[in-house]
Amino acid sequence: MPELPEVQTVLNGVCQVLNGRQVLSIVSYYPGTVIWDEALDSHPFPADFISGMRRGKYMILHFSKDVSLIVHLRMTGKLVFETALIDIHRHERARIELDDGSALRFIDPRTFGKITVINTENLEKFLPQLGPEPLGKDFTPQYLYQKTRLRSAPIKNLLLDQSIVAGLGNIYTCELLYRAGVRPQRISKSITHKEANLIIRHSKEILMEAIAVGGTSISDYRQVDDKRGEFQNFLKIYQKKLCPLGHDVENIRLAGRSSFFCPKCQK
Ligand SMILES: [Zn+2]
Repeated sequence: MPELPEVQTVLNGVCQVLNGRQVLSIVSYYPGTVIWDEALDSHPFPADFISGMRRGKYMILHFSKDVSLIVHLRMTGKLVFETALIDIHRHERARIELDDGSALRFIDPRTFGKITVINTENLEKFLPQLGPEPLGKDFTPQYLYQKTRLRSAPIKNLLLDQSIVAGLGNIYTCELLYRAGVRPQRISKSITHKEANLIIRHSKEILMEAIAVGGTSISDYRQVDDKRGEFQNFLKIYQKKLCPLGHDVENIRLAGRSSFFCPKCQK
């Protein structure tokens, strides 16, 4: 499932492809994949690409005529660039057609992904409530410590809550908690100042490292050129049998997700 580093990598690729181009149309091949804002002009395209940004796990693409796209890859979505239009891929749910005959295909076997076409001024209305960006200046040890005070939920569940911090998912949460030496099932309000510091530091470090190598490709995730990311080669605990120090790794379910930890390295 794409998390912040994967979405950022895809966004970087999408911006390169769209730079200087017009979108001619968005074609939907699956009901519900493309959602249209009712406030939009019925023919918003062609429109010129202006800029792209990321908020949590959402890609936001701005165009002329006050049109924006919110792309959410969810479980298995990917955007793949093709220089010429060819047959519809078996799992292709939508296609963003460009003015030079090329296209971005939205391929999504599980069909949870969405492309929402909106009037730019409605952006906030179409995004859920999202907490601070983990790489931003507002995601501080003080912020996390304060958020944990009254919570009995496991710390991992808190970090997965997009309204607390936007962009972390299962893989990076397992990894950053390993690096911070904190067990995923620890009750949030038991987290100390020192641990909040470590969690913040390692969140930022691991996300930066993963972005630098194009994200983690374990199942479906691919970059815009359909290449794999490389961060799966640097995982220390996720889906491992032994931790880097040779201890047995345990796997428990938290919030319905496999949570890997080392009972010796993490407290
Ligand atoms: Zn260990």
